[in-house]
Amino acid sequence: MESDRAVTAATAATADGSFDASMPGVGPAYERVLLKLSGEMLMGETGYGIDADTVQGIAQELARVRELGVQVAIVVGGGNIFRGVAASSRGMERATADYMGMLATVMNALALQDALEKRGVQTRVQTAIAMHAVAEPYIRRRAIRHLEKGRVVILAAGSGDPYFTTDTTAALRALELGADVLLKATKVDGIYTADPMKDPHARKYDHLDYATALERDLRVMDSTAFALCKDNSLPIVVFNLQKGNIEQIVRGRPLGTLVTAEPAGFAAGGR
Ligand code: UDP
Repeated sequence: MESDRAVTAATAATADGSFDASMPGVGPAYERVLLKLSGEMLMGETGYGIDADTVQGIAQELARVRELGVQVAIVVGGGNIFRGVAASSRGMERATADYMGMLATVMNALALQDALEKRGVQTRVQTAIAMHAVAEPYIRRRAIRHLEKGRVVILAAGSGDPYFTTDTTAALRALELGADVLLKATKVDGIYTADPMKDPHARKYDHLDYATALERDLRVMDSTAFALCKDNSLPIVVFNLQKGNIEQIVRGRPLGTLVTAEPAGFAAGGR
């Protein structure tokens, strides 16, 4: 299976700290990745909306990943602009609020597309809610074709259905598009045994298995998203979106926490 191959490649690469994707016969650890970028990742320090410098930084990094030949699909969130649950808790009908949340993700997708294209990276935005004036509709086979042609495919409007999240969309699209791994960019550098802000004894997992994550309620992603990954053995890497990290991961460096069916382990000398 493709995902097994990807994990083997990642593991082999990490055994040797000097992994170099430019070496003859050595390629990146992953051929096709699905990156989940939450809205929060695009707002920088501003606390709301889209921060141009932050988006440009991400685009710069993605351009380098493309240069390595890795195929990239991205699912963008919308929490920096609008979250359905929050609005429904203030009295709005949940489905309506969720549709607004999905529209928010389209704005983020267009901002990211603009930044990528300014760097010469070819992109296509596909939306799960038809919006012909601004983007293509999401069509799985067409998305795959774009990826094969080296275009970054930005998937917006979530799954197109209320009551879901963009994490669930990311897991679903990763499976549909045959991605080797789901890369979940966050503000923390991986998954810990407990909240490292509250517990000084919290230790970071280098590698975590689905069963332990569930048993210890570690909340890697929402339960629907996580179940999709677990049931289909889709590896997840949870990592901090710091400069250079996406490139390091696709080159096979063990950053963040890798979640698979293999038994859990802690980072060497980790806390
Ligand atoms: N949303 C939805 N269905 C989906 C994906 C997203 O209804 O398939 C809505 C939901 O209201 C959510 C909002 O879009 O709050 C923004 O997505 P999300 O919260 O997942 O974004 P993130 O937290 O990743 O920025």
